[in-house]
This record gives sequence, structure tokens and C-alpha cells, in this order.
Amino acid sequence: MNNRLLIKDATLVTMDEDRDENRGVINSGNLYIENDSIKQITSGTEALPDDVQIISGKNKVVIPGLVNLHNHAAMTLFRSYADDYPLMEWLTKKIFPAEAKLTEEDVYWGTSLALLEMIQGGTTAFVDMYYFMEQTARACQEAGIRAMLSQVFIGIETNNKRLNNLEDAINFIENWQDESNGRIQTILGPHALYTCPPDFLKRMLKETEHLNTIIHIHLSESKGEVEEALNTYQKTPVALLDELGLFERQVIAGHCVHLNDEDIEILSSRGVGISHNPCSNLKLANGIAPLKKLLDHGACVGLGTDGAASNNNLDMFEEIKLCSLLQKGMLEDPTAIPATQAFELATRGGAKALKKENTLGVLKEGAKADLAIVDFNKPHLQPHNDPVANLVYSASAGDVETVIVDGRILYHKDEFLTLDQERIYYEAAKCSKRLRQ
Ligand SMILES: [Zn+2]
Repeated sequence: MNNRLLIKDATLVTMDEDRDENRGVINSGNLYIENDSIKQITSGTEALPDDVQIISGKNKVVIPGLVNLHNHAAMTLFRSYADDYPLMEWLTKKIFPAEAKLTEEDVYWGTSLALLEMIQGGTTAFVDMYYFMEQTARACQEAGIRAMLSQVFIGIETNNKRLNNLEDAINFIENWQDESNGRIQTILGPHALYTCPPDFLKRMLKETEHLNTIIHIHLSESKGEVEEALNTYQKTPVALLDELGLFERQVIAGHCVHLNDEDIEILSSRGVGISHNPCSNLKLANGIAPLKKLLDHGACVGLGTDGAASNNNLDMFEEIKLCSLLQKGMLEDPTAIPATQAFELATRGGAKALKKENTLGVLKEGAKADLAIVDFNKPHLQPHNDPVANLVYSASAGDVETVIVDGRILYHKDEFLTLDQERIYYEAAKCSKRLRQ
């Protein structure tokens, strides 16, 4: 059956590089969706298709769906479970022991809870790394969201045997690639350099050569991690991964907080997709990434929330605002990361890191119909002087009214059309309670 949907008379924040006029913002625009794609964008005078489902865009702003570049969705179960600890203590004393008890069912319900939150907040695609990823994939398939999923693995000995399993990760990639009209993409998830030593990473690259998938890894998140690499290998983590040939593949590197000038040069010239996660970096006191410097060097940067245990929500609007304010404050430069650039990171930046800049993170003809409609009929979003500045500095996840992925409405006016909200709350609370015991 043909899916035909028309959003009529809305402000369209297209983020389309080819539209220079008005920074890509179209006032009183119409956006027409056919099946899974944007078929037509018009600005008022052209004839509109008839016999279609219509959503009124009056006082609404349509944005490309937000791309969350670094997450551990099922960690919503650990929200508010262990706060205000240093990173290594948080990991080894609180998170790892609780994660050792995780079951497949926990991951399914924890992910489902994250999907409710992400969809409600306008996120239409996310990159994830965790255990039992078949369960995450199943939850994403049911919800209708777009996801790039990696089954995490490490290369050092541990009690947690399911982590020492590169074969499992490869099987997951092969079994789930391109499922659900291509909405599910599978990628490779070595946890980090401090858990995946160089020899192991070399073996991983060799064994996964035929897959040619994106690699998702944590990189230079804490000062301690960089110091350890310098002591052990006399190289920064970035320089070492480059030497190993990791960046010859498309890589999404989470965090990249502690970088020297050579690291920035390497990351920029190799086109590594960096997930900047300002909330998580602040909460775990890891510091502030040199975002402006990276962007000035032409690095490819998107935004991520990281897991809900270290954030503690999955609200991309917070990351957008924070990434701009942090650089302004740190550099004492109010012109740093202006509104359009901040919003670009959460849309086109993420899409570019995924090598999907022509289909995601942008409203244009031929792109995927992945978008969110934000209700501007709210006191904190009046007047409409500048819709992009309003989105970046004044809006929050709660202002999203409608979310569409692959041309399908997943959320509209407080109602989830693919997920059972009450059941998910109930099951997630049950799982979380057991894990905390
Ligand atoms: Zn992470």
C-alpha cells in the first residue's frame, strides 16, 4: 500500500547545504512524503498532491530526525542507580557487577524504554553498543526506529565470558545486516583500546575484513586512559589506532575528549566520525572535548548522549545546547559554535559520520522521511524570531509533537503508535529492581 503524507504550511529547517537562502529555513513550506522518502518540498505556490493524509504545520517546525551517535540504550535500567562516582570506580564497582547479571530480557526491556524516550524526543536514528544485541535489534525492529548496532566485545581476560566473544559479534553482524527495509545496520564494536590491546585489534581487523562494516569504539574519554597508553605504548590512543590501520575503515569514536594537536590532525584527515557527548563527559568529570578546534580542522563530528547511566537522559536537545554553551564559556568566545553549527552536529554531522549524508539528517527530496515536528506554540518558543536559535537554546525534547521514521508515524501528540508505553514502564522497572539487588 502506498504511504502518502503531507505536512502542510510549516516552517522547514531543512539543514540542506544546497539551499543557501535563509540558512536552509523555509517559512510556510510543505513537505510531501511518499512511502519511506521525502518526495517533494514546496514553498507555498506550487500545486500540492491530493488524496493524502495531511498534518497541519501551523506553528510547527519540521526538523530532520536527530541522530544520536553514541548510546548504550539498555542502560536506561541503570538510570539513577550509581551517580556521582569517578569513572573507573563507577565502572568497576557499580556498573560492571550489575551488568554481569544482565539477561536477554533485561536488554530487550531496557532498550524499549530507551526507544520510548528517544522517539519522544525527536531522535530517529542512533548508534548503540551493548550486549545481547539481538534483543536490541528486535526492540528496534518493533519500534520502527533506525539503528546502527554493535555487539560489544573486549580482548582481555575477564570473568564475564560473553565479552570475550568476537565470533558472536561477527554472527550478529551477519544475521541482522540491513533488516527492516535497511533500518537496522550492524557495525563492529570493540569496547576501547584499554580493553582491546593492539594485537587483538590487529586480529579483529583481519577477521572482519570481509564484512567492511563501520567500527564503533570508545576513544580518549578520560585523562587516565591517555596516560596509560602513553606509559604502555609511548603513543596516544589516537596515534596508536591510526598506526594499527583502524582508521582505514570508517570509525565512529565515542568521546575524544583528551586530544593533542597531532591527534586532532589524524582524526580530521582520516575522516573519523567523532561522537561528542558533552553531558556524559561532564557528569563523569572527564573534561571538555576541544569541539571548536576539531571543527576548525574540518573533523567530522556528531552528538551523542552516551548511556542513561551517565547522562542521565537521552535528550539530544540538551546535548545541542550544552555543546555550544560549553565552548563559548571555556573559550570565552560567544561566537563559538553558533546555533546553526550546533544544530548541524545533531543532524547532518551524525549522518556524515555514518556516511549517510544524502539520506539522513537533512530534509530534501530523495532523502529518507526521518523527521520530527516541533510544536512552537509554547511560551518558551515565542516569538518566532529565529527558529534555529529557538531549537538550540530554548527547546527541549518535550516540545516534539510528531516523529516519523521511514515515512511511518511512530509518535504523534503524546501517543506511541508502535510501542506499549505502560507495559514497557512495568517490565523495565521489574528488570531494574532485580539488577539492583
Ligand atoms: Zn559509551
